Amino acid sequence: MRERGDGDRHRLESGSARGADPDPGDPDPTGLPPADRLLSATLPATIPVAPLDRFPDLTCVHSERAGGASQGRFGSLNLGLLTSDDPEHVRENRRRWFRACGFAPERVISPLQVHGSSCIRVTSADAGRGALDLTEALRADALWTDEAGLALVAVSADCPLVALYEPERRVAAIVHAGWRGAAAGIAAHAVRALAEAGARPERIWAGVGPSIGACCYPVGRDVASPLLARVPEGPWIARDGDRYRVDLAGFIAADLAAAGLRTEHIARSRRCTACDADRLYSHRRDGEGSGRIGLLIAMRPPSGGAGFSAGS
Ligand SMILES: [Zn+2]
Repeated sequence: MRERGDGDRHRLESGSARGADPDPGDPDPTGLPPADRLLSATLPATIPVAPLDRFPDLTCVHSERAGGASQGRFGSLNLGLLTSDDPEHVRENRRRWFRACGFAPERVISPLQVHGSSCIRVTSADAGRGALDLTEALRADALWTDEAGLALVAVSADCPLVALYEPERRVAAIVHAGWRGAAAGIAAHAVRALAEAGARPERIWAGVGPSIGACCYPVGRDVASPLLARVPEGPWIARDGDRYRVDLAGFIAADLAAAGLRTEHIARSRRCTACDADRLYSHRRDGEGSGRIGLLIAMRPPSGGAGFSAGS
């Protein structure tokens, strides 16, 4: 498992050193407090999601905290429209991150996540829905498309975000898999949706972004039982006294393998959202005051044709 982003950390830290002694001759265009200015001054991260980073005709990245306009506990690139953060800051954050990924908001589709288990097809007719506000957003936790030039985006604080891609049929999906959706089989439902569109499960590649690790996710029987009912006991779950420790990303990987994916086509980040407070948001760590990171997947048109890199 490759992990990237150390360069971002260095940028952030050197930024902190500079910001401790702001140059009075340098007017602050943001109006933000110094600590938030620093985060805001950093470019939004676009961290490649393995194993999908091997496909040159695909963009699949996740965000981190730095590079946004949000302040305080939401600092700074909070992408969650359903949080109690200033909505104007969240919209600005989304614009910045989409731009960093190479997309105008008009090419982004982002659902209103409802902890369900259905996977909905989207087309260019849906472009822009949920990108900057939720009034037109689709209510779903998984989307798929066979159209290049559309960016599918999901957000989360601890829940695994999963990207799927079948390079021969050229279909892609995004999945938000909290424990309820995971136990309901949302990852496998997305595989089935792609298969019904002509994809072959053994040709699908899957990447799981950062999520809460077993280190920080003790759960009771109410959560463990529905998960165990779907995937047999394995490395993803361990007893901890009268509780359990669950590795949701490991559960998703096992469920995807059961759905027909080759294990060598599945990779998951080992980064724990609750452990990495500097760079990731965690609902379990920060409660209702937690922001959201995002994961984006988009197929590029063949040979970089028109429609991609719609930039600002
Ligand atoms: Zn942890």
